[in-house]
Amino acid sequence: MTMRIMVLIGAVLLLVSAPLGMLNAADDKPGYTDTPVIPGQKWKVHDAERPRPKVMAPNAVYLTSRPKDAKVLFETGKDLANWRNGSADAKWGFVNDAMQVIPGTGDLFSRGEFGDIHLHLEFQTPSVVTGVSQGRGNSGVFLMGVYEVQILDSFENPSYADGQCGAIYGQWPPLVNASSPPGDWQSYDIMFCRPRWNEKGLVSPARVTVIHNGIVIHNNREIMGPTRHRTTTSYKNHGSVNFTKGPIKLQDHGNPLRFRNIWVRDLENRNDMGS
Ligand code: MG
Repeated sequence: MTMRIMVLIGAVLLLVSAPLGMLNAADDKPGYTDTPVIPGQKWKVHDAERPRPKVMAPNAVYLTSRPKDAKVLFETGKDLANWRNGSADAKWGFVNDAMQVIPGTGDLFSRGEFGDIHLHLEFQTPSVVTGVSQGRGNSGVFLMGVYEVQILDSFENPSYADGQCGAIYGQWPPLVNASSPPGDWQSYDIMFCRPRWNEKGLVSPARVTVIHNGIVIHNNREIMGPTRHRTTTSYKNHGSVNFTKGPIKLQDHGNPLRFRNIWVRDLENRNDMGS
């Protein structure tokens, strides 16, 4: 079956299952029309009309090597000791020494918890393409367990701008679409600065810089609050002085993505140089 036919079948399935408010895939503009406007922006959450980032193909070599002080969460092999599914041991599987989502087993959480970090991970969306838009190669990496940098097969796969690969989901599209074809290994380097709190509430929001396949797609971007679907977010009623670290969460969104070379540098308090 050619990719074009599979995409066509997927589009028909999406039309059948599309919730109210979602434009149909035949318009080539999947997204929503009935969601609230994102505060400070002119676009609605998951806006079907929001321009999609320009495609910019990555260079051939873009995988960074692991610094000596990085903590390895998963390299290659068959060891998921650093991960859990809820309170149980990790249930994801392995293919060719990479870990693979087993759909339905649930999100994966690192056993370690982190605040400010540099996180590196490599992911591969399924080479056998099924589904369209958000149904195709969907996963995500959630910082502190709640702030999602979207993972999606965004190679010639139209979806709403704030939901495509590299988006701060529901908030900010990536600056460009640096996606590689399905089945290729891709990389994220995520420099994350957690929110700061005092007794009264938020002092400063979380910020993130993301490099996708060697290309900067967010530069010190403010995260507006924990990730939400179809609605806006804020720090109201979210977090406290005690929310200073959380697990790294990898999303089971029903697609068998693979991951490898996941490492983290703990940058907490490293901005206090010389003190
Ligand atoms: Mg996702």
